[in-house]
Amino acid sequence: MKLFVTCKDCEAQLPLPYSALDRAELARTVGDTFSLRCPKCHATNTYTVNEVVARESAAIAALAFGLLLLGTGVLAYCANGNANG
Ligand SMILES: [Zn+2]
Repeated sequence: MKLFVTCKDCEAQLPLPYSALDRAELARTVGDTFSLRCPKCHATNTYTVNEVVARESAAIAALAFGLLLLGTGVLAYCANGNANG
């Protein structure tokens, strides 16, 4: 899981340069509040750990989707093979 906050100025999703299993661990690492500079609009805002959201990275989501398609294809292939054989 990657941690993100939403930029208060341009609403871009900013990935945090920290990793943590949950907000409690994040709060122990960075404190209750931290400052982050948006690479898109260059605004520096202060965020609280309650504003942090965790989501899976796009690469992992794409990989999971690819495996799902592959699995569906294999099942379809097997079903056709059984019908013909
Ligand atoms: Zn921004």
